[in-house]
Amino acid sequence: MSIETISLSGRKKVVSNKEMTFLERLYLIAIIKGLFITIKHFFKKKATIHYPEQVREMSPVYRGRHMLKRDEQGRENCTACGLCALSCPAEAITMKAAERRPDEKHLYREEKYAEIYEINMLRCIFCGLCEEACPKDAIYLTISKELVPANYDRENFIFGKEQLVMPLEMAIQNAQLKNAN
Ligand code: SF4
Ligand code: SF4
Repeated sequence: MSIETISLSGRKKVVSNKEMTFLERLYLIAIIKGLFITIKHFFKKKATIHYPEQVREMSPVYRGRHMLKRDEQGRENCTACGLCALSCPAEAITMKAAERRPDEKHLYREEKYAEIYEINMLRCIFCGLCEEACPKDAIYLTISKELVPANYDRENFIFGKEQLVMPLEMAIQNAQLKNAN
């Protein structure tokens, strides 16, 4: 009994059971064909590069690792509103909000800030929706061209604020550049 299957790709081939000829059984023609294909690829432009010695030029709109931005005074922009987490299709973002104390005004721009902010890089698909959703210009994927480094432990792919918040020196440099222009 034969079972009819539907080809989703439309590339289904009917396999025949016909006897192979003597020449076909020698596989000489098949081997020569295979070698010809291999030799042809020697002279083609390579699709691969010698990474990490060579690095591809990235697109200007490349989405790198997330960065939680600071303002010109070095204060964190994020107000822990949770909109980025809500808009994330991969449910990769978690956070815990906290109230800013009066003596922390130089650290956080808004009255509420993210005490804990974590992104699970194993879940993230780098779609950029968190960046789109943020009303405070706080999270960006475009500033950093950095990749998420390989690791053997799953826990190391959960990036906390220590990996995500913009370095203070970068915030100062940005402010200096802005003032110079
Ligand atoms: S880039 Fe996309 S998947 Fe990654 S954390 Fe942001 S919204 Fe979620
Ligand atoms: S990064 Fe932006 S959207 Fe996400 S919690 Fe902070 S302020 Fe809200």
